[in-house]
Amino acid sequence: MEEEKHSHSVLHDHAHHHDHGHHHDPNDFTDYVSAVAEYRKTFASKANVMAQAPDPAVRDMLAYTDEIGCETCFDRFDKQKPHCTFGLAGICCKICSLGPCKITAKSPRGTCGANADLIVARNLARSAAGGVAAHGARAREVMLTLKKAAAGEVDLPIVGKDKVLAVAKMYGLETKGKTIEALAGEIADILLEDMSRTVPGTHRTVAAAAIPERQKV
Ligand code: SF4
Repeated sequence: MEEEKHSHSVLHDHAHHHDHGHHHDPNDFTDYVSAVAEYRKTFASKANVMAQAPDPAVRDMLAYTDEIGCETCFDRFDKQKPHCTFGLAGICCKICSLGPCKITAKSPRGTCGANADLIVARNLARSAAGGVAAHGARAREVMLTLKKAAAGEVDLPIVGKDKVLAVAKMYGLETKGKTIEALAGEIADILLEDMSRTVPGTHRTVAAAAIPERQKV
């Protein structure tokens, strides 16, 4: 659809170009090369870090790893130079096997028709989703452990009683007459359901804990 709209607007704009004060060409190419070159200049080298790291322990440690021949991220970062201009600009797309595609003045669209804006936005959204998924996977392990601890299926005591009570209150759970373990189990179930509900519904943690501005969005 997006592609069709764009093609249409290109035809439309071309046909009526003289009627408009300005027109938006989806193939507009913004030259990013000089901005990337400037950005690249700000990259610290290992020598910079060894000379300027504010914590002397960092400088000592780097001198020591050098001495024993142990490679660090600073060595590897230097070896990666010069960093790829397309990658730094965020306009390298490898989402499908027609790529990788890159955006240049000569080729302002990927094979599928995606322009720089779409490629950058997609890359950003996908990297955020990947990061959230990685943290979420760890969080899920913690939730499952809490559930099993609550059920007595693993030998782990629930020591944060005040926390369990506070969180139970936050969710509006009835606490009277319930053990800490029972409440912890209910909390774990809410968290697990919030994390992976298959049918859309109220996100109870957001509803209970987020500030009003977040609730709106
Ligand atoms: S720009 Fe389009 S065609 Fe190129 S790799 Fe990305 S999704 Fe595939």
